[in-house]
Amino acid sequence: MKRTTYPDYPDHCGWNAMLPRRQPRPTAKGALQVKYAVVGAGFTGLAAARQLAEIDPRADIIVIEATTVGEGSSGRNSGFLSPADIAGSIDANAVQKNVARNRYVGEAFDDLVRLAKEHRIDCDLIACGRIKAAATTGGEASVRDLQKVCDALAVPYQLLNREQLCTWTGADYYKLGIFTEVGHLVQPAALIRGLADALPSGVMLHENSPVISLRKQGSKWLLETPEAQITTDTVIMAANSWVKSFGYLRDRLVTIYTYAAITEVIAPSDQGQLGSLPSWGVLPAHRLGTTLRRVGSDRLLVRSLYAYERGVSPEYAQVALLDRFHRRYPGLAHVGFEHVWGGTTALTMNGAPYWGRIDEGLYASAGCNGSGIVKGTALGKRLADFACGRAVDQDLLSAYGTANRIAPEPLRTVGFHVISAWEGRKAGLES
Ligand SMILES: Cc1cc2nc3c(=O)[nH]c(=O)nc-3n(C[C@H](O)[C@H](O)[C@H](O)COP(=O)(O)OP(=O)(O)OC[C@H]3O[C@@H](n4cnc5c(N)ncnc54)[C@H](O)[C@@H]3O)c2cc1C
Repeated sequence: MKRTTYPDYPDHCGWNAMLPRRQPRPTAKGALQVKYAVVGAGFTGLAAARQLAEIDPRADIIVIEATTVGEGSSGRNSGFLSPADIAGSIDANAVQKNVARNRYVGEAFDDLVRLAKEHRIDCDLIACGRIKAAATTGGEASVRDLQKVCDALAVPYQLLNREQLCTWTGADYYKLGIFTEVGHLVQPAALIRGLADALPSGVMLHENSPVISLRKQGSKWLLETPEAQITTDTVIMAANSWVKSFGYLRDRLVTIYTYAAITEVIAPSDQGQLGSLPSWGVLPAHRLGTTLRRVGSDRLLVRSLYAYERGVSPEYAQVALLDRFHRRYPGLAHVGFEHVWGGTTALTMNGAPYWGRIDEGLYASAGCNGSGIVKGTALGKRLADFACGRAVDQDLLSAYGTANRIAPEPLRTVGFHVISAWEGRKAGLES
């Protein structure tokens, strides 16, 4: 039997706290028998549940969530999503994969937009493009690399100099940036809450119901929560990096904690310092850098910091994020944060997710590497297809690739600390 640990964050998700209170769905209780059990009500799990209901409308489907919807990482993120990936390198193989991947990315993005529209999910979904901005010479090289990828993919862009970046975002901090029109921002907790409320009627969602053990019983799986025993034919494991606590994928995924904060309301007299654009999002030019975005007319979000397998203290996160915010906006040094929180992402060595069958009747998708709103939606849907015996495009696997093995402990931990110290030094002012 596999006993698990599950998310128990010491802080509340700021996005969730900014929304009206929501009544969670009832906890799972008693002996339940279902055809499909989905573990985790994030973007991956909800996409899988929707697709299961579409394929097998008469089946009993249950979604079991350890916390409440909006308090998991699907609500804790920075809210960047896009109908197309613009990534990789310019070699012909990478460009071909990018194009192939964008079929799934585009479909998943369209699903999210359609659902938000159909169910009137009020989640501030805005098409404002995105900026990748560099504060260092190394960062500038990374912006130039993205420029080459845009050229290879025929994606229009605009290079931004220091003055333009300062005018657009108010931050006189970055030396060079690249703006692409492809890119949206969303209030992620509002979106995931809306998607949970929009689940088809055949799907039962239970919150505050952590799965604490998972075991095979004959041809079935038995999942236990503190108050329920769930017997099922098929488990869709959509718990992201927490899948490792069930004993799976420990050699493929690492858990990285990262942190975000939203400022208090910025006074009208200071709002001119937030730039001329009503909405904007800045991604860093180094992977250990800081993400920034405007939230409505009067707040900013700052996301930064990485911690390996264990979170940092809320006090440390607050101080570190404030430093990043005030460095970029010295004129707002009197402005503090209203919300500071952390969340987990599942990282893989080669950046590819894990997706597939891990045992008979047990399927998993994990390792979205910090871009799971759309990727989780795409892969969750296809995982449901696969679990129901539907043919899955070979293209999917070649487009996304699969997570490769990571060195065993203690090499892994030592390796992570060496790489992050090295990369942290390289990131410099991008952090
Ligand atoms: C601060 C931060 C900023 C980010 N910014 C972005 C961004 O801008 N854009 C983007 O696309 N991505 C971003 N990400 C990454 C994104 O949040 C994840 O990739 C995404 O949430 C993955 O979705 P998921 O459904 O696979 O996993 P999750 O959202 O982690 O959902 C898994 C769910 O499983 C539940 N669970 C775990 N264990 C159990 C158990 N034992 N029993 C029952 N339930 C369990 C969890 O509570 C959780 O709700 C960010 C992440 C963080 C932390």
